[in-house]
Amino acid sequence: MATVTDLDATVIRNPATGEEVGRVPRHGPEDAAAAVERAAIAFPAWWETPAARRGEILHEAAAAVLAARDELTLQLTLEQGKPLREARIEITRFVHTLEHYAGLAKSLRGGYVPNLDVRAHGLVLKRPLGVVVAIVPWNFPTTLLGNKLGPALVCGNVVVAKPAETTPLTTLRIGEIMREHGLPEGVFQVVTGKGSVLGEALVTERRVAKVAFTGSTPVGKHVAELAARGVKRVTLELGGSDPMLVLDDADVDSAVSAASVGRFFNCGQACLAIKRLYLHEAIANEFVEKLAAKVDRLTVGSGTADGTTIGPLHSETQRTILEDQVGATLERGGELLAGGRRPDGDEYASGWFYEPTLILEPPHDSKMATEEVFGPALPIWRIGSLEEGVERANASEFGLGSSVWTRDLTAATIAAEKLEAGYTWVNSSQIVYDELPFGGFGESGIGKEHGIEALDFYQEAKAVVVKQSPR
Ligand code: NAP
Ligand code: MG
Repeated sequence: MATVTDLDATVIRNPATGEEVGRVPRHGPEDAAAAVERAAIAFPAWWETPAARRGEILHEAAAAVLAARDELTLQLTLEQGKPLREARIEITRFVHTLEHYAGLAKSLRGGYVPNLDVRAHGLVLKRPLGVVVAIVPWNFPTTLLGNKLGPALVCGNVVVAKPAETTPLTTLRIGEIMREHGLPEGVFQVVTGKGSVLGEALVTERRVAKVAFTGSTPVGKHVAELAARGVKRVTLELGGSDPMLVLDDADVDSAVSAASVGRFFNCGQACLAIKRLYLHEAIANEFVEKLAAKVDRLTVGSGTADGTTIGPLHSETQRTILEDQVGATLERGGELLAGGRRPDGDEYASGWFYEPTLILEPPHDSKMATEEVFGPALPIWRIGSLEEGVERANASEFGLGSSVWTRDLTAATIAAEKLEAGYTWVNSSQIVYDELPFGGFGESGIGKEHGIEALDFYQEAKAVVVKQSPR
């Protein structure tokens, strides 16, 4: 491996301690062009590989990643900050998604249209797009990559991935492992560098057919504009502000658990985190009391420490944004029920820690209500009816996930139909299934990941007309 000098290196730091955990090259436009060139060279042979064989190769590579799970789990915690338990779940999810798409390899198919015309039939070919650029954020560095890698590779595309600047290490190691275990040279590469430099260079590279982007809404819009200049295919998985509606007949205890996991998993840094909680007034007091008690039992600490349930925020920037959102909101109203501050103690001095926070009835136009809150702070409001809850829930530019908690089938059906979001869970939340399409409405994105639907975003349909010559 090339040595990395200080000048062209990015230092990766543990969010819990500030200690250096690695350094990686800070690549630029020339490296982007070289990576795309390697990918373009690898593409024809990968496309020609029988789909079933591509599936086998992907299965073998996924198994090798699984065998390295302990090493990858620790690496992910050290660079991202999340507790080891959550890092392990993330690596496992990555493997499951690859296996899911590897398993679909033998089911890829196109179409046939009989009697299209006199002595003519039509065919619908499904072809891979070619070089796919995958751009991924730091909150779930590996699963968000897997969502792109699985469908892209099984359909015969080649992938150049750009991890977030602050979380490249686990992804680089996964790339090495997959290449050591059967993925041909150039089929899957990982390039490290800044989004504004390397990312833009990759998006605008002429030979890139598609950009699969996960990240914030403002950057996603910019990436889409750049890609549009080359009429490149784009999928965008962007920000969210998921509402959770709890009606008067809900099973309060399971909803309380879901709210706590939904808001505080990954220190609240999830696109699908529960970011707005709407409680029917009949159960609101009981719910809030139970949730506050649960939050009180959460343990903030380093991701590698025993018993930690909430790690640090990923970076100083994230904590600064969160502190502003909480502070500006409380100046305008709302009751602070828990947290709202950094934890005290020497063990917290060098990391980006923040206490789990609950705010009751902040103004509906405050930052906690209107912005995406990417940290462990939850605003809570009372509602008088399902209709009021749906109206509040839909008063957001985001439309990623949502959930409704009720035993009433009619209420659940109405919520599932009316909530403006790509996913609605009934008496459940946040679990994304490989079987179902996932993707935002409104400013939360374009296109779908997961499900067989994802395959459509990595293939181009081509029409062929076959007419018989007179004999
Ligand atoms: P971000 O700033 O948009 O960054 C995401 C990725 O884009 C990073 O790899 C970043 O690289 C790169 N990037 C930045 N500027 C770029 C440019 N000009 N051209 C090309 N690439 C560029 O996102 P974030 O704030 O770090 O991540 C959190 C956001 O992701 C939240 O909004 C969250 O909701 C969203 N998210 C959405 C989903 C979903 O599936 N819908 C899932 C997870 C997260 P650098 O790191 O080098 O800047
Ligand atoms: Mg960013």
